[in-house]
Amino acid sequence: MSTVRSPMQEALDELSQKWDIPTEISEIHFGKRDDLTEKIVKVGEVFFHMPFLAGPQLYVLWKCLWPDCHNCCEQPIRLPMTENDIELMRNKLGYKTKSDFIKNETTVITFQDKTINDVLITHSMLSMKRKKDETSKDDGKKISCRFLTSSGCGIHPDKPGVCWMFPFLPWRESGDQWWKTESHAKFVFTGACPGFYLDKSLDPIMPTLQDYSKKIYDYLISCHSSQRNSYISTSKTIQYRFLCDLPSTNIKSLK
Ligand code: SF4
Ligand code: SF4
Repeated sequence: MSTVRSPMQEALDELSQKWDIPTEISEIHFGKRDDLTEKIVKVGEVFFHMPFLAGPQLYVLWKCLWPDCHNCCEQPIRLPMTENDIELMRNKLGYKTKSDFIKNETTVITFQDKTINDVLITHSMLSMKRKKDETSKDDGKKISCRFLTSSGCGIHPDKPGVCWMFPFLPWRESGDQWWKTESHAKFVFTGACPGFYLDKSLDPIMPTLQDYSKKIYDYLISCHSSQRNSYISTSKTIQYRFLCDLPSTNIKSLK
């Protein structure tokens, strides 16, 4: 008798064919770890919510396996654009006007998610076409990006900001005083990335967090300005989650 596999099961089965995925990492993807908590570490202006397994006392860390892995460019479900991205890509692709670029190279997408604090949020924005004939109906489907070449991203480093973020999910929320806004980030567990591993210490990932802190902060500022100028609409201003679909995980705070 054949059993129907969930999208996450399918993704992890595919990932496991090429990479060794630790059992604990698979269990986190399926939301099966009751001992999954988080430790928050502030690096620069960003609060990173680092997954921590309270049982074995291990952190979940990440290291990008590029160029051996291209999964996030082979399977993006959308490429949302900020106002800065539109200008960057307009120049890169040689369009004289923003309107021509938007008409030919982007689609309008609307999607919902409730990744942060289980609040349902509706997002509307422009997404760069991953294939020339892409339409809005393709949003949410895994489509290999047309800019991926045998030597990597063909438009690197002038690629959309969202491409720099994965596997981090960045968001902004109110700080401890009403006039303050804080930048936050956590990992997304989509089943696409083989770069997660376990370690007793955060030390190995600290240089990466330092590198990403500035990128994430700048990207969130760009998202905020795009929202203010009506390039992005969200039903609630707390977060931006774009590249991949993911299940919610049972994370408790150990602040
Ligand atoms: S899927 Fe993960 S390991 Fe692979 S290229 Fe993307 S970030 Fe790196
Ligand atoms: S634009 Fe470049 S980095 Fe972004 S998904 Fe396409 S190939 Fe990957």
